[in-house]
Amino acid sequence: MAKLKVIEYPNPILRKKASKIKDFGSAELGKLISEMVEILKSAEGLGLAAPQVGKSRRVCVAREENNNFMVLINPVITASSRKKIPISEGCLSFPGKFYSISRPESIKVRHIDEKGKKCKIKASGLLARVIQHEVDHLDGILFIDRVKNKAN
Ligand SMILES: [Zn+2]
Repeated sequence: MAKLKVIEYPNPILRKKASKIKDFGSAELGKLISEMVEILKSAEGLGLAAPQVGKSRRVCVAREENNNFMVLINPVITASSRKKIPISEGCLSFPGKFYSISRPESIKVRHIDEKGKKCKIKASGLLARVIQHEVDHLDGILFIDRVKNKAN
């Protein structure tokens, strides 16, 4: 596998709905995840979704406040707080662009981790924000699509 790099807008892969992952434990999936973590570390980003490295698969990585990296495979947001807050967001596929976007403050997420374990988590603050942004990527939704909903 050639070394992955971050794909920038308007590459059409960013608009594709990514496909569900089934090959848990495969060498290919493991390599994809570890390369995504490396890219996110070196870019000093907060989150990265597989379509952003040219793989239309439902996996994303989010940096936690303790600088660990949370791997979310086939993530589903199962609940969102009614309360929304605006936060300035950036995206590795849009270098240098930041927009204030209003999204639910806290969420519940169901996903599978890198070890194949089913997880249910609650997230709030920055982590909730990153996960929502990355799950959007898996559906071909980009943060520029949400700019119009900002700040009420
Ligand atoms: Zn992004």
